[in-house]
Amino acid sequence: MLDQIVDGPDGWTGVDADADWAAEVRRLAAERNAVILAHNYQLPEIQDIADHTGDSLGLSRIAAETDADVIVFCGVHFMAESAKILSPEKTVLIPDERAGCSLADSITAGQLREWKAQHPDALVVSYVNTTAEVKALTDVCCTSSNAVDVVASLPADREILFCPDQFLGAHVRRETGRENMHIWAGECHVHAGISGPDLTRQAEENPDADLYIHPECGCANSAIYLAGEGLVDASRVHLLSTGQMLDEAGRQGSGTVLVATEIGMLHQLRQTAPGVDFQPVNDRASCSYMKMITPAALLRCLALGVDEVDVAVDVADAARASLERMIAIGQPGGGE
Ligand code: SF4
Repeated sequence: MLDQIVDGPDGWTGVDADADWAAEVRRLAAERNAVILAHNYQLPEIQDIADHTGDSLGLSRIAAETDADVIVFCGVHFMAESAKILSPEKTVLIPDERAGCSLADSITAGQLREWKAQHPDALVVSYVNTTAEVKALTDVCCTSSNAVDVVASLPADREILFCPDQFLGAHVRRETGRENMHIWAGECHVHAGISGPDLTRQAEENPDADLYIHPECGCANSAIYLAGEGLVDASRVHLLSTGQMLDEAGRQGSGTVLVATEIGMLHQLRQTAPGVDFQPVNDRASCSYMKMITPAALLRCLALGVDEVDVAVDVADAARASLERMIAIGQPGGGE
């Protein structure tokens, strides 16, 4: 099967996710004593073969607790880095190291150093969708579940540099009312593409539907506006991390839900609550980086032991400290 794999413009291809593939993946995982973790935005066939699915931080915690020697992280690169930061003694593999993230790429360590130099007394709060090097320059990390709590816990007289997501930053500023907070103008191209007009149109067409909105979405402000104007019943608007969406879906039971996040999330939601009609706010909101983890890439990864993710010890130590400060504040949830 390995000799069928080709490197195409969208990553490794050439292998179908059939029963033979599934058996070979399981055999190779057992041979390597590997655990397969899949993010909620992965292709359905990757989610289905994984030992665990979840959000980025939840999966990193599973990685830290597992007895497996090898962690195969089916997600994007910064997520595999987080697993390595929390489990430095384990081998961490990602099926395609080219699977990046436009949000994590929107601030580099060099840019953050410059920003800090302009605000030497400020505290840095970074969303977990950042590289290990950016986390290493960060005072406290946050997820979309706890970003408000993290910022609220910091001394009111200290300036805050919040990066990299401008929509999550705007949500935090609105919730905390904090004026001395500078927000980096980064965004995820997938979430930013889920726009206010998309949401407004769908909400009008589905007047009884609940709305599950990820705070990184370009439509998050629109959801707040629609609720504030009474155009949508505020009790129907739920701003949720991906992990919280699954919890909410479990309570939902029936009805229609409009979902504003990457469309891979629909697979887990539909499995969690089969009685609910989940509809994407934008059915083109697909992360091409996440979809680079193909059946061929996973097979290649397990067969050859590639691509290995490593983080320099000093960077990992500093990055781990910013994650641990976040966990100490509580309610980390899972972010994306
Ligand atoms: S959906 Fe956006 S934030 Fe998530 S991995 Fe893809 S590019 Fe990054």
